[in-house]
Amino acid sequence: MSLEKLDKKFILSTYSKDYTNFIRGEGSTLFDDRGLDYIDFASGIAVNSVGHNNPRLVEAICQQAQKIIHVSNLQVIEPQVKLAKRICELSNYNGAIFFANSGAEANEGAIKIARKYGETQFKKKRYKVITLEHSFHGRTITTVKATGQESFHSPNFSPYPAGFSYVKDIDDIYSSVDDETVAVLLELVQGEGGVQPFSRDKVQELSKFLKQRSILLIVDEVQTGIYRTGEMLASNLYNIEPDIITMAKGLGGGVPIGAVMTKHKAILSAGDHGSTFGGNYLSTTAGLAVLDILSELYDNGQLYDTFIYFEQKLKNIAKRYSNLFDKEVGLGLMRGLRAKNGDIVAKVMKNSMKQRLIILKAGRNTVRFLPSLTITKDEIDEGFKRFEKAIITI
Ligand SMILES: *Cc1c(COP(=O)(O)O)cnc(C)c1O
Repeated sequence: MSLEKLDKKFILSTYSKDYTNFIRGEGSTLFDDRGLDYIDFASGIAVNSVGHNNPRLVEAICQQAQKIIHVSNLQVIEPQVKLAKRICELSNYNGAIFFANSGAEANEGAIKIARKYGETQFKKKRYKVITLEHSFHGRTITTVKATGQESFHSPNFSPYPAGFSYVKDIDDIYSSVDDETVAVLLELVQGEGGVQPFSRDKVQELSKFLKQRSILLIVDEVQTGIYRTGEMLASNLYNIEPDIITMAKGLGGGVPIGAVMTKHKAILSAGDHGSTFGGNYLSTTAGLAVLDILSELYDNGQLYDTFIYFEQKLKNIAKRYSNLFDKEVGLGLMRGLRAKNGDIVAKVMKNSMKQRLIILKAGRNTVRFLPSLTITKDEIDEGFKRFEKAIITI
């Protein structure tokens, strides 16, 4: 039976997927079972932060696997402690971390911390969490409810947990808080919602407003974190110090890991939260290798050079194809082209795959680019060459 047929028979059909069978990757190039090469401008979905088959990451994982992969969290785990310390240092954040296995789980942890804070720190219980329309926070029952897109709240999965409400924009948060509001949860650059960065001034003002009222600011950095927008965290770029920050996608370079970091270190106590796999030797060793590689690129200026190079190429395309795209959007290597309509995006996606270029869609009308942070200029050149071939006929 063909791989496609086997997939359709044995895998639950939650994705409409492409059936190219990738068997190997090298940097930002993938190879299929026919030996054809593809330029990867998606890196999973911002997951392969240091590229495919990165020798330093592979070496770290192999070395660790030969020693020990897992013990339970009832034991101290050295690379877990080291990774937590490293994340706090690189993001200049005076906090402590709980490790999970995914972004949704990290957000679940954040919501639990907020709920307990709201229960224990005030005379009248606070439990409401405000999030934004066009946000995305995960696929568990709670994080799907935290996601502010109506299309995610299918009655098929109801009832959902209470206490979540949505506002259109940051400006609307002020009039929405009441004496039961415990937290605001937001992405600084909305990823799935359309690569939409918020203004630095507005976020700083919001942060101040919430602090004055002891309402927690939770920043979902599952997609923006780990140098994606130019600093270790987008919160560093925005110069804010949220109460809780969640991370996942790029942190393990492809090994599943999630993290929730907070400066409210005393809220959770033994028994409040847990995870069987979270923070084990394998994933946290991968995380340490990823941060070694990326902090080096950051320090020597190479990461910034790559951002500028990619941005110039994208701006150039946006200008020359103003018949298709209104503008380029995003920060760092979290970029998008806002298309005139959804039909254009569908055609761009289809044609790009024919040209063997992997890109993503975001929201209704945005073509999204999330390349590996180690992508080379040659790979960027080749990717944009293919992109232009894909769009020239539209
Ligand atoms: C991908 C994503 C999530 C969910 O992460 P999973 O690992 O798929 O659970 C949550 N928040 C944001 C901003 C994301 O981009």
